[in-house]
This record gives sequence, structure tokens and C-alpha cells, in this order.
Amino acid sequence: MHLATSHAELRATLSTGAVFVPTMGALHEGHASLIRHAAAVHQGPVVVSIFVNPTQFNDPADFARYPKTLDADLDICRRSGATHVYAPTPQDVYPADAPIPVPPLPRVATAPGLEDKLRPGHFAGVCQVVRRLFDLVQPAAALFGEKDWQQLQVLSAMTRETGLPIRIIPGPTIREPDGLAMSSRNRFLTADERPRAASISRALREAASKPTPAAAEAHMRDVIQAAGLEVQYAVVRDAQYLEAPISGRPRRALIAAKLGSVRLIDNAAWPDLA
Ligand code: AMP
Repeated sequence: MHLATSHAELRATLSTGAVFVPTMGALHEGHASLIRHAAAVHQGPVVVSIFVNPTQFNDPADFARYPKTLDADLDICRRSGATHVYAPTPQDVYPADAPIPVPPLPRVATAPGLEDKLRPGHFAGVCQVVRRLFDLVQPAAALFGEKDWQQLQVLSAMTRETGLPIRIIPGPTIREPDGLAMSSRNRFLTADERPRAASISRALREAASKPTPAAAEAHMRDVIQAAGLEVQYAVVRDAQYLEAPISGRPRRALIAAKLGSVRLIDNAAWPDLA
């Protein structure tokens, strides 16, 4: 496995047509499953990037404490089938003498009033860094987790709308045994908070059997609030556009909630039982 800390180094060892898994490091089994999936669906190089992108953090404290575990990350990459790891410096991604543009944001980034309303500017930063990484890595395909459902829709739309010849491949959400979606930030939950965090996935599971979106939303709020979490949103939306659900199209239930100092998000298909 090649480790590159600059894009010049990466390009020197990389042919075109790679499959690409962008990450911010602090890797867990969710990332490992994406890397394995990448290696399984695609012939050729499997590139993992590890870069904590400053432009997508709207909270400086969240950026400052974001975990950094490079040695363990490299082990996971190696064991999961990565052929290349690109772990650049900030200067390599954002050179001082060449401003990196923010691509036009697709409607699904802002119109739904979900992540970008609570984290203003977040998707501008995500699109900026992913577009930049796509330009540096020039992959044929890229994998993103369903865990970050709105991000997956935003990046699919950005890739389509800017005409990039890159196939976007979703990977399923990997969970802890009690249902909590794995996340690099879960390590910040206290011993008292950790079991209560499972209320989010329970709320999503139970919402699936409610007869209407409104009933599902009310139930999700109740379950999460009863566990002492602060609900930011608990909604059922169109699965692709994330605006009001339309009968006959796939729908998705999405939750964001705060537990102590940790912000948690999760989502699941919301089946139309009508
Ligand atoms: P991050 O390092 O948090 O930016 O995530 C890098 C990639 O891993 C993104 O495409 C995420 O959606 C994906 N990811 C994060 N957590 C999980 C999980 N629990 N299951 C599957 N994919 C995940």
C-alpha cells in the first residue's frame, strides 16, 4: 500500500480509473466496509483519502477536537484492501497561491432546510473538498456512506450536474450491536449517554410501521426526547430531493439530535405502507 502526503506523490504512483473512498480519518468499521466494498466492485487501484477538511466545519470546537488516529487508520486501510492512502497537508489541498473554488451547490444541499440550516456552509465545504479531491485523484468511481444520507444526495447531484464522469456508489450504514450508527464522534459520548444514543435508531425502526409521515415524525420526536436527547430534526422526506414526501416515490426518515456535546445523525428508508 502506498502512502502519499502530497498529490504529486500520489499521482506518481497512481494510474487513472481508481475507485475512491474519501474520509476524515478516525476510521471505524463503517469506513472499512466502504473500502472493502470499493475493492470488491471495482478492478484497479483503491484510494482512501484521510483529510480533516477545515472548510466543512461550522463549529471551530468540533474541528479542534476531531480525532486523529493515523497509525490505526493505515492499518484499517491496509487490512480492508486499499492500495493507496492519500493523507495530505492542508497546504496540499488548499495552496495559498491558488484559491480552490466552491462548485455551484445543488438544490438538495440547501432547499430541504436540514443539515445546511443547522450547519450553515457545511455543504459548500463538502462540495469544495470533494470536487478538489476528485480533480486530484481522477477516480472512475467514488463511494459514500448512506449514514450521511443528505451528503450522499448532494454529492450525487453535484457530480451529475457538473458532468463529471465518476460513478457514485452508496454503501450501507454500519451499526453497533445496539443499533447506534458508527461514527468517529461516538467516542465522545459518556458512559451515561452511550446507551441513550441507541434511541435514534430505535426511533427510525419504529417509525417504519407508522401509517403517515406526520405520525412517524411525531413518534420519532417522542422516542428521542424520552431518552433525553435534544431533537434538531426528525422528518420523513423524499429520499432523493429531501423535500416534502410525494406519494409513490421513495421516502427517507432522517434524524439529527444532540446528546451532551455530541451531534448525532442517522436515517432509514421509510416504507410506504399505504
Ligand atoms: P467521515 O470520515 O465521517 O467523513 O466519513 C467518510 C465516509 O464514510 C462518508 O462517505 C461517510 O458517509 C461514511 N461513513 C461514516 N460512518 C459510516 C457508517 N457508520 N457506515 C457506513 N459508512 C459510514
